[in-house]
Amino acid sequence: PLTVEVEDLVVRHAPGRSPALNGVGLTLTPGRRVAIVGPSGAGKSTLLSALMRLVEPESGTLRLRGEDGPAVDLRELPSDEARRVMTGLTQDPYVFQAPLRDNLRLAGPEAGEEELAEAVRRARLDGWVERVGWDAALGEDGRTVSGGQLQRLALARALLNDPPVLLLDEPAEALDEETADALMADLLDATRGRTTLLVTHRLRGLEEVDEIVVLENGSVVQRGAHDELVGVPGYYR
Ligand code: ADP
Ligand code: ADP
Repeated sequence: PLTVEVEDLVVRHAPGRSPALNGVGLTLTPGRRVAIVGPSGAGKSTLLSALMRLVEPESGTLRLRGEDGPAVDLRELPSDEARRVMTGLTQDPYVFQAPLRDNLRLAGPEAGEEELAEAVRRARLDGWVERVGWDAALGEDGRTVSGGQLQRLALARALLNDPPVLLLDEPAEALDEETADALMADLLDATRGRTTLLVTHRLRGLEEVDEIVVLENGSVVQRGAHDELVGVPGYYR
């Protein structure tokens, strides 16, 4: 179990520009789920990029802390190790022109049918798989399934690797309202008890996450449980 510690993070995309993140801090302890919400341009993607080491912070700390032993600077981890620790879902999951089973196996080449079944169950794809039939469902071409199912598959794929920290980047972004609600409900169900950082522009459905961090203009303007937030729009664009 790993804790992610972010302190006073400052990220500037170009010299002389105002910082995209200006002193952001957050702690993600094992098993907890934190949601980052905020309007477009607030710095949400920049925060994920910093965690995935796609941008270099100007200052601040990004650390991983195990149960015992010293905290490790994220920037000192080899990048393949960093990728193993933090795996994510993007807005548009990448799928190959191949059966879903093969798309799932891409993540864990040694995964047997039982592990696939378990990942699929945990991602709440079980109803669909049962309805369509295990072989038919997983034999389907990855590109023919709907956006909602695709995200569930991407989650199943991520879960196969059992990442210590799960990063979810606007997983419902490309979906219509109803599908987005259903997907978020399933994602929250499937990630219960898992260390998860979720970036989203919708407050809806976040009643059970442990903490919501509201970002605006590169700074945290509020943080707390869903019920504690004051005057935060339910929906950000
Ligand atoms: P959000 O994900 O909340 O919409 P971003 O992290 O994408 O916010 O953007 C935060 C700020 O950083 C914005 O002002 C945006 O224009 C700027 N920005 C983001 N990515 C880049 C980049 N690659 N180069 C330059 N500026 C960027
Ligand atoms: P969309 O086609 O809008 O992306 P989905 O693929 O998520 O929507 O859903 C298609 C159909 O499958 C809907 O009737 C939905 O209720 C059902 N469904 C979606 N997810 C599941 C699931 N995990 N288990 C069972 N049925 C599901």
